[in-house]
Amino acid sequence: MGMTMKMISTAKEVLNDLIHLFFPKLCLLCKEPLIRHEELLCLKCLYDLPRTNYAWEEENPVYQRFIGKAYITHASSWLHYQKGGKVQQLVHSFKYHDNKEAAYQSGKLMAMELGKTGFYKEIDLLIPVPLHKKRKRERGYNQSEQLCAGIASVWNIPVNTTALQKMTRSSTQTNKTIYARWINVRQIFTLTDKHLIEGKHILLVDDVVTSGSTLCSCAEVLTGIPQVKISILTLASAT
Ligand SMILES: [Zn+2]
Repeated sequence: MGMTMKMISTAKEVLNDLIHLFFPKLCLLCKEPLIRHEELLCLKCLYDLPRTNYAWEEENPVYQRFIGKAYITHASSWLHYQKGGKVQQLVHSFKYHDNKEAAYQSGKLMAMELGKTGFYKEIDLLIPVPLHKKRKRERGYNQSEQLCAGIASVWNIPVNTTALQKMTRSSTQTNKTIYARWINVRQIFTLTDKHLIEGKHILLVDDVVTSGSTLCSCAEVLTGIPQVKISILTLASAT
């Protein structure tokens, strides 16, 4: 790295500081101006987010939700989701208030912290829980895709947004397995390219896990592909 490169990067940082001085980015939760190296949340709000803490445990409550329902290697969530709480505010920002960047940054923050657990070292591919095409068009983006992009930027793992797709409601009518009856809102997914998945350890990513039925449906579609392993990570857990 030459002297000029260093000077350019220093100049860039100074310029950034100046821009922030006049147009400060605000913390999503407390609305205080962010300082350098803070993204999305100020350090205090980031620190105060309610962690699940069991993200460091193998046999945690999220994992237990899938026992007997799907073949899962590991499953976990970073945060506790509570009605009216800070995590709801965060999730709503990218789910209902068009804040794509918030989803991306949340994925990044989660990856930085949970990378240390060691559970995700063998992940080959990130797959976001797909949205209906119509819903994606309405929102302009899939928030789980944005979470994946944030995670990918930290862990250097590829994301695939096409292999798994959500089918339209009408096309699910013929599919009346016991499993389909078990899930209350019928959400059926389909796989477009098995070869992309073969032999890989997949991490399915979603924003909030509640009953786990959506993630179960996704996992079911991936199960049975040769040498595939499936793990699950969500930003938050709602129970
Ligand atoms: Zn804050």
